[in-house]
Amino acid sequence: MTELAYLSDLPSAYVREFRARVTALPPGALVLDRTYFYPTGGGQPADRGVLRFEGGRPLEVTDVTKSGPAVLHRVRGAAPELRRLEVGAEVEGAIDWDRRHRHMRLHTAQHYASARIFARSGLRTRRANLAGAGATIDLEGPLPAELLAPLEDDLRDVVARPQPVSIRMVPRAEWDAHPAAGRSGLVPLPPQVDPVRVVEIDASDVCPCGGTHVRSTGEIGQLRWLPLVPLSSGASRVAFTLVDSAPTTPSA
Ligand SMILES: [Zn+2]
Repeated sequence: MTELAYLSDLPSAYVREFRARVTALPPGALVLDRTYFYPTGGGQPADRGVLRFEGGRPLEVTDVTKSGPAVLHRVRGAAPELRRLEVGAEVEGAIDWDRRHRHMRLHTAQHYASARIFARSGLRTRRANLAGAGATIDLEGPLPAELLAPLEDDLRDVVARPQPVSIRMVPRAEWDAHPAAGRSGLVPLPPQVDPVRVVEIDASDVCPCGGTHVRSTGEIGQLRWLPLVPLSSGASRVAFTLVDSAPTTPSA
């Protein structure tokens, strides 16, 4: 089992380097007792980075995935190096911070955009996806094109007048009765999830999420919105990209 150390609170999303122990060595991968590497999930791509250990060359992490309760850190072409490692060995992880911070900015922007879309149109988000410097939000129906400009204004405002972001663990029964459960209600939570990890953007949005987020909407930076994409179902896809994909980033 791997402890998902990035999950515990919002500051944990800013940890870029950490120590952990190897608990298993499946072919081409390492399982650690704890990790700050984000494994693919919830529309957020996996982190990249390196794992270092005494007596070997740094291992380049090429993918991170969940496998039951374990997290697999796949490494590039490192079979000979991996043979130097043993279960119980200590490794140092270093996360590719530019990539991770882009995902954090996009993820918080996506939550806020989904909340504003719901507030302005009643449309819920069916699926959200982050990739590279951009994000897409697939809605449950067609978004009137004239709403795009006010939505852009909403996002510009929340960057110019930042709102704090926080993470809370909420008992399941309390969450199910929460009025904010409506906006995210299209994506059912598995019944065993209790408590629910909710990401809160000040008074603007509350949404269950296992992803990593920035601590203030001011950190999102400038976004460029793309034209609405009509999906074959008749619903709309909203898309935006970060204008400055390599901003100055706050330290942990
Ligand atoms: Zn999320």
